[in-house]
Amino acid sequence: MRYLSTRGAASGQRFSDVLLEGLAPDGGLAMPEAYPMLGAAELARWRPLSYPDLAYEVLRLFADDLPAGDLRAMVSRAYTRELFGCAEITPLRTLEPGLHILGLSNGPTLAFKDIAMQFLGQAFEHALGRAGTTMNILGATSGDTGSSAEHAMRGKQRLAVFMLSPHGKMSPFQAAQMYALQDANIFNLALRGVFDDCQDIVKAVNGDAEFKLRYRIGAVNSINWARIAAQVVYYFKGYFAATRGNGEPVSFAVPSGNFGNIYAGYVARSMGLPIRRLILATNENDVLDEFFRSGVYRVRKTAEVRQTSSPSMDISKASNFERYVFDLVGRDAGWLAMLWQALDAHGAFDLRGTRAFDAIAGSGFVSGSSSHRDRLDTIRAIHGRYGCLVDTHTADGIKVGLQYREPDVPLVCLETALPAKFAATIREALGRDPERPQGFEALEALPQRFTLMEPDAAEVKAFIARHALT
Ligand SMILES: *Cc1c(COP(=O)(O)O)cnc(C)c1O
Repeated sequence: MRYLSTRGAASGQRFSDVLLEGLAPDGGLAMPEAYPMLGAAELARWRPLSYPDLAYEVLRLFADDLPAGDLRAMVSRAYTRELFGCAEITPLRTLEPGLHILGLSNGPTLAFKDIAMQFLGQAFEHALGRAGTTMNILGATSGDTGSSAEHAMRGKQRLAVFMLSPHGKMSPFQAAQMYALQDANIFNLALRGVFDDCQDIVKAVNGDAEFKLRYRIGAVNSINWARIAAQVVYYFKGYFAATRGNGEPVSFAVPSGNFGNIYAGYVARSMGLPIRRLILATNENDVLDEFFRSGVYRVRKTAEVRQTSSPSMDISKASNFERYVFDLVGRDAGWLAMLWQALDAHGAFDLRGTRAFDAIAGSGFVSGSSSHRDRLDTIRAIHGRYGCLVDTHTADGIKVGLQYREPDVPLVCLETALPAKFAATIREALGRDPERPQGFEALEALPQRFTLMEPDAAEVKAFIARHALT
């Protein structure tokens, strides 16, 4: 498998190369030259596999430059009962015939990002070991990504993590998930500012090419191809769990923000998995819903982004969306570059009246949005009807999913976080706190370890210089 960039450079890179880089050198995102196509025989062979074995089969197609034995060892270390609470890793709950919830949030930080991040931790360690070097990861988080990355990288010999977070702006639970880590390779920098300040500083540090090279600064953001590839696996797992035979269609409902999760579903569909519909759900920040309804992609200004009760979907633009549009324009990198120029200049592009617009219809996507009121109603309805408690993001997905549900087509709603993470809204919906999984009862009472700092790039750099792995 070779990779190319959405902006045109056919670099001939392999999985190990795109693993360690953020953007491609020309500013685009890494894409496989073609999606692997599966036949009926492969689907039949994969159906009974355990999660780690299935992950091995799927990832092997994208990472064929890794020694098979190494890849097998990596997935068996990433996907354990110990880390994910059960052997299935992503258990399927059936609410009623034809309506299911795929549990993606049983990992160490109770959100679906753990699934990709645990693999990324293994992949990084492997690649750095082979190269005989180390990496200092710099990231910014508003909650879920940072804790997931830290839990995946903690204690790893060749990795240090410097995570910028907005001091006092996360839920106490989210803050504690990061700040309670005592591992020597994890550094939490709590900035007196907002999430955008954190992100700006990450950009500023990465813009200093000499510093970046000197301290081998790496990233774990959602555009990393390895994260996408790892997410493709659970679409297969969910499909097999919800059907009896291969060939039956299934639809997936996906709470979406940066378009990473649902894009992985689109990759699975492109590989030949019989996915009928990819049902994209947004919250009040509906830039993606607007696109699928109109053909116009209009990114939001920071000031336009609303703070909602499904905060992990509060986005102004969707960082993985470029990959999908690259396919829509028939992989014409010149056309894609023009669209992104229009985006930079005018904040929007319009596909109506083009071949790319016509291609949307065949790609399986439908969309809808959900509001705070919808979220509360859905949490109450699903709890009342099925005795099942879902978090706010999952509720957005279920709300839109049910809107598009078809008779005779199983609907699988992806659970992207556990309700314990978003207790305030659960309290508002049901008048009581969500239960906490075992081991999380006294999380906020644990001693915390973080460094409080002004949102100043020079200060952050000085801190990294003092603590970075050499
Ligand atoms: C990150 C996240 C999402 C959005 O996923 P994308 O891949 O960015 O579309 C949804 N729900 C939760 C709980 C998340 O943490």
